[in-house]
This record gives sequence, structure tokens and C-alpha cells, in this order.
Amino acid sequence: MKLLHSGKVRDVYADGDDLILVASDRLSIYDVVLPTPVPDKGALLTQLSLWWFEQLSDLVPHHVLSQDVPAEFAGRAVRCRRLEMLPVECIARGYLAGLGLKEYEKHGSVSGVELPPGLVEGSKLPEPIFTPTTKAPVGEHDEFMSFTQVEELIGVDRAVRVRDLTLAVYERGATTAAAHGLLVADTKLEFGLDPAGEIVLADEVLTSDSSRYWPADRWAPGGPQFSFDKQYVRDWSAGLDWDRTPPGPEVPAEVVDATRARYVEVYERLTGREWKTSP
Ligand code: ATP
Ligand code: MG
Repeated sequence: MKLLHSGKVRDVYADGDDLILVASDRLSIYDVVLPTPVPDKGALLTQLSLWWFEQLSDLVPHHVLSQDVPAEFAGRAVRCRRLEMLPVECIARGYLAGLGLKEYEKHGSVSGVELPPGLVEGSKLPEPIFTPTTKAPVGEHDEFMSFTQVEELIGVDRAVRVRDLTLAVYERGATTAAAHGLLVADTKLEFGLDPAGEIVLADEVLTSDSSRYWPADRWAPGGPQFSFDKQYVRDWSAGLDWDRTPPGPEVPAEVVDATRARYVEVYERLTGREWKTSP
């Protein structure tokens, strides 16, 4: 198999017409990969993504073909259809956090979507919004785009379709998660075109790397929220003398364990399955 791309966290191989997307146990914060892996993270994210693709299959066609992958990647890789990816990161937000919050504080809007005044970190938005960004090349940061810019980039019909699909996936994801006591603050999706020109959901979906999951019973707008992802590592790193450039710091075992436990908890709460260490 030919290695096409090695991202911060995943490796992408070509196998004939198919792609093999392999998730590693690497963890990155502030775009820096840390030297300490989080055991099972790749498998946890891959299995959660697979579970979600299945839940969403009546809403949107997806790229997954099977888990038929080389033995060394078993459990943490998917075989999928190779698509022509659309150059837009399709983000839906139901709550204000992260870069969405920063943008709101500066402009009162996100991706050109006007929001009411007085919102704070963690606020629930009046309704979920579509806040697309560019897909920046390595080393650069994604930037917010207005819906008009998306139309110009991929055409009006496709822009409308990816916006509607993004919001539909968010709604389904948020409703499903709510039944398990979890809020989905925001989520990032990627779509591609198949050879017939149909829009297909690709990449990973509703994982704790691509989405902010918050426990509903601890939700308290007005500050940072308890978060089921690498926020714990970011908070730990804030106490270090580290300038957020490579190399990243070694992560102590208790921080790794607490982070792993958060990924496991989201997987178990959503799927109702017990996490068993992958092969
Ligand atoms: P990073 O996540 O490190 O910022 P990245 O997004 O380029 O960088 P990954 O997410 O690890 O890296 O790599 C996955 C790549 O595969 C992405 O570029 C994504 O757009 C692409 N991809 C996902 N699914 C498909 C598909 N079905 N067909 C073609 N490309 C795909
Ligand atoms: Mg990516």
C-alpha cells in the first residue's frame, strides 16, 4: 500500500481504488504532536466513527466500505471509497466554544451568521448554525468562510446540500447524545464527491477529536466546560513552561490515563458497549 498522507494523528494509504484511513494513538494539542501516545485512542475514535456512520446511514451516504485492513492496523483503520474531497471544513455549532467563541467576541457573528448579543462561553445558540472554514494547508490555520464564499468555491447547489447535511448530522448527533447525558457543542464534517458526483460523508464523524462533547449535568455557561476530549491535556500543559511549539512535552501517566478514560467514557455512553482493548 502506498502512504499518501501522514497527518498529525492519522495516516492515509491507497489500496487500489480504496483508501485505508489509519488512526494512531498520537495526541496533538495546539497543532503539536506530543511524544506520549494515549493507548487505544486510535481504535476508540475509529470504532466510535464507525458506529456513528451506521447511525447516520439513513440521512447521508458515507464512504466506509469495511474494516478489511492489514492486520497491523486492525481495529483502528477503515477501508473507504476514495473521493474527491470538497475544500471546506463543514462545522455545525449548537453552543459557543473554541474558535467560534473567539470569532463571536470579535465580530458578534461566526462565518457571517449574526448572533444575539450577550452570549458567553458555553452558551447555547438560539439554533444550530453552519460555520464553515477553509481547509488550510499544513502549518496554516483554518479560517472562517461565509456561506457566499462556500457557494463561490463549490457551487450553489453543493453549498446548500453540504450545509443542510451538516446541520442534519449535527441534529441527529445531538439528539442521540442527549439521550446519554451528553451535549455536542460543535462538530466538524468533511464531504467528498463520488465518481457520479454525489456528495458523500467522509473522514471521521462525531468522534471526540472532531466534536466537543460535554456532560449535560455539568453544563454551566460563563466559563470553560468540562470536556470529554484533550482539553484535559491542554489544561495540564497550561501549567508548564512550554511555548506551544515543537517539541511537545512528555505527558505524565496520570494525565494520559485520565484522557484515555474520557475517550472510553464517550464511546461507552454513546454505543452502550463496554470498551474492550483492541487486538
Ligand atoms: P491534521 O488532521 O493533522 O490537521 P489532515 O486533516 O490533513 O491533517 P488527517 O485528518 O489525519 O490529516 O488525514 C485524513 C485526510 O484524508 C484528510 O485530508 C481528509 O480530507 C482525507 N480524507 C478523508 N476521507 C477521505 C476519502 N473518502 N477520500 C479522500 N480523502 C479523504
Ligand atoms: Mg483531518
